[in-house]
Amino acid sequence: MSVEPLALDLDPKAYIELNDMLDEPTADAALTRREREVRALTREVVAREVAPGAAALDRTHAFAHEGVQALARAGLMGLVFPRHLGGTADTNVAYAVAMEEVAAGCAATSLVFMTQMHAAYPILIAGTDDLARRYVPGLLDGSVYGALGITEPNAGSDVSGLQTTARPVAGGYDLNGSKTFITTGDRAGVIICFATVDRSLGRRGITAFVVDGGWEGVGRGRPFDKMGMHGSSTAELFFDGVRIPEDHVLGRPGEGWAVVMSSVVKSRISAAAQGVGLARAAYGRTLAALRRLHGTRLSDEQTFALADLRGRILQGRLLLHAVARQVDADDTVTSGQIGIMKQVCTDLGFTASVEAARILGPYGDLAVLGVERCLRDAKVTQIYDGTNEIQRLLIGRESARALEGLA
Ligand SMILES: Cc1cc2nc3c(=O)[nH]c(=O)nc-3n(C[C@H](O)[C@H](O)[C@H](O)COP(=O)(O)OP(=O)(O)OC[C@H]3O[C@@H](n4cnc5c(N)ncnc54)[C@H](O)[C@@H]3O)c2cc1C
Repeated sequence: MSVEPLALDLDPKAYIELNDMLDEPTADAALTRREREVRALTREVVAREVAPGAAALDRTHAFAHEGVQALARAGLMGLVFPRHLGGTADTNVAYAVAMEEVAAGCAATSLVFMTQMHAAYPILIAGTDDLARRYVPGLLDGSVYGALGITEPNAGSDVSGLQTTARPVAGGYDLNGSKTFITTGDRAGVIICFATVDRSLGRRGITAFVVDGGWEGVGRGRPFDKMGMHGSSTAELFFDGVRIPEDHVLGRPGEGWAVVMSSVVKSRISAAAQGVGLARAAYGRTLAALRRLHGTRLSDEQTFALADLRGRILQGRLLLHAVARQVDADDTVTSGQIGIMKQVCTDLGFTASVEAARILGPYGDLAVLGVERCLRDAKVTQIYDGTNEIQRLLIGRESARALEGLA
């Protein structure tokens, strides 16, 4: 059989139909009407303006600007933000459901989409009202790109090793140092930058700042060539004597660690939703390809493998929704609980893509099917937002602490 008919470049109507068929009533039962509406709206925008361009973004490495702008126009960038800042005051579950949809259509677009939220959220929780009104609306309507700058050449998993320094000066701070692996770093107009006001204080010196990308002394590297997520950019940032006004501190000096910890709750929901979305995309593409190759007559081995994948994707989605619902209900979710969600769902995205490629045999290797793209895109979700090894450490340590005092 010629491989061309296997291309899954569905028109928007067919895309929506296929994905509606993949919905699982077991997971949907716990969604509110509004959360289902958010999914339907996101699916529609993705079908029309995101998924059709995903393969081309992967091939050309062009930035996912059009898809992100379409999502912003539909009002989907501000799901967990209050209305007065341009958001829709929706639940974290609605956000997780939307993220899964975007990731299933184009993971690179979902990475830029989530980064807007990750840049806006620290301003919402720790910035002054004035700062929030100045910077958040532009991030939510897509008129400015945002970046979250934590990682440095010698600090990522171990944030206390930050070398970027914000030296107090009259009226503000003098920022010097560099960041690496920063999503959208090459073009961000709003940068949330974590720096230390005093290295000798370790974590207690870390402070979060809003840095305007247009300020003098902000430099950017060229985007890196990467294994996957080609429609997103990842670059270095350089700060050379950048003057930060005092009112651009998020929280108080030395409170940056708390901002990091609050932010990772959201960003790990994002990564987990990407994992579920990628697993679902790999599964859906495999089902569609097998149908075209073999009709409805699948071997027992293929049937068992597909059954296993479907069950694992449902488990991942239920876990994602349960943790997001818990975050909506209160703020007592532990780093171990968040870590289980992040690790399980992003491992799912990668292993399900590997399995989908295996089921397809040589067809799994073909770019035209898009399963190999899922595999390449899924790998980095296990790495960023705290590697899955770090998640296991957090989970294991929390379990060990729970047994403290046991005879
Ligand atoms: C595409 C992409 C986008 C990114 N976007 C951003 C962004 O927008 N903003 C940002 O700030 N960062 C971003 N990052 C950086 C990313 O979050 C970090 O690279 C990641 O958290 C790992 O941290 P590290 O670089 O310090 O790696 P390291 O900690 O040096 O990790 C190297 C290896 O050692 C393991 N390891 C480290 N410590 C331990 C330990 N104690 N026990 C066991 N194993 C350990 C890790 O799991 C990993 O396998 C991005 C990275 C990529 C690839």
